[in-house]
Amino acid sequence: MGSLEYIRSFDIGGNIGRFKGGYLFKDEIERNGFLLNPENGCSIILSSELCDQLYYQNIEEPLAFKMIQRGLIERGNCLECQVKERVQPTFFIFDLTQACNFRCIYCFRHLEDKVRTISDKNLDAITNYIIDYCIKYKIKNFCVQPWGGEPLIAFDKIRRMDNMFKEKGLYPLISIETNASLITEELAEECAIRNIRLGVSIDGFELVQNMHRPLMNGKPSFEKMMRGVKILANNENLKNFGVVTVLTSKSFPYLKEIIEFLATEVKVSCFKLNLVKDNPVMKDAGLCLTKEQVELAEITLLSKLVELNKRGYPITELNVQEKLMNLLVRSKSNICTSRGCMGGTKMIAFDQDGLIYPCDVTDYKKEAIGSVHDKQDLITLVNNAKKSNCDFFNKKHINECDNCPFWFYCKGGCTTAIKYKKGCVEGVDNQECIANKTLYPKLIELILSEPNAIFPLTRGRVKLNKI
Ligand code: SF4
Ligand code: SF4
Repeated sequence: MGSLEYIRSFDIGGNIGRFKGGYLFKDEIERNGFLLNPENGCSIILSSELCDQLYYQNIEEPLAFKMIQRGLIERGNCLECQVKERVQPTFFIFDLTQACNFRCIYCFRHLEDKVRTISDKNLDAITNYIIDYCIKYKIKNFCVQPWGGEPLIAFDKIRRMDNMFKEKGLYPLISIETNASLITEELAEECAIRNIRLGVSIDGFELVQNMHRPLMNGKPSFEKMMRGVKILANNENLKNFGVVTVLTSKSFPYLKEIIEFLATEVKVSCFKLNLVKDNPVMKDAGLCLTKEQVELAEITLLSKLVELNKRGYPITELNVQEKLMNLLVRSKSNICTSRGCMGGTKMIAFDQDGLIYPCDVTDYKKEAIGSVHDKQDLITLVNNAKKSNCDFFNKKHINECDNCPFWFYCKGGCTTAIKYKKGCVEGVDNQECIANKTLYPKLIELILSEPNAIFPLTRGRVKLNKI
């Protein structure tokens, strides 16, 4: 990386307005710059000559207009860039079943205890609650994610829910994360017809998959998983399935090979790399990555993706894509990584009893903000919880956040991760903090030094020309 400097706010002559201040990242060789405002997430790429205009407080009109458009200069008569999010959940997750035919080494569900699947009564109550809410607020685009366990074990419940939505003229995106072992041709066809999206959990090539994700009886799962993946790959409507990959300290040494496998053998165009999260009920705390491993994982991930793209494998990773979209177009493509945690504001979780939570903190019953059985207005419930002393909505902050260029996107990271690690919401999500402070500067460096690399990493959403 080149240099990083905070440029203070200043008045621009000729009544044009006031530069709001921001962080200027400069490329070491070309001396081009990337200017980022940490309060509103707005940015602009500047040639070395334009960097000088900013640096010497001598901004000429063409640059001034661009900076006004991009929310970097404020003018008395202009609308401010919107920075506050309205409460209107559109992503609903619910606990469908704890039953699972796998025994992943990092799983924190209590599978040795009694395994429960949601009752039809509570499933119907949750579905009707979402239906009433969406009709009341005229919401047509929303997403429902049943989670497990292995959700396909309880596919009849998903079918039941889907039918209920359709009877009311609602067509949510139902997305299921599955271990793929139970996928059959018939099930895939039904999902395709119903427009249910399947994503597969794959932790890597044979050795890693079997080490991380054994079957319930301890046997390897790789072949069963690949059989399901092949069925999806041969289905015209499901072939662009997503993949979630969990990285632990055990699979960390194989990260490059894992990404190579996903690109060249599974042929996915996008996957999500989840770093295993620390959790008191996870049996082996030694699975968590150290600070150095998190940093190295982010660097390895980005360089491997760029290498694969250059070799003709069009692949990206979801966090990389969404963080690039944050930096370049300030898009709100992800509820978790675009504006800090959107739990409650955009995401809602339901447990098997119909209790309502601002995201998946269902192990903490006192974090419930209401129950579907009481039929209270969802937005009122969230707003009341925000005003009360609900732990989930505590501000997540450490001193370093005050001077962090990435504050607007991060805002302390994932609330659930903090809650499960510490038992209360205080401080920040350390793992996300390390990941952000490593990945964002690397992405900016790439934007400035290899703009062509951005097109495949954003799956064609952003094309940058050489400055
Ligand atoms: S948690 Fe870390 S990355 Fe996030 S805003 Fe605070 S200092 Fe920045
Ligand atoms: S708690 Fe975590 S997973 Fe839930 S919305 Fe917030 S950031 Fe996303």
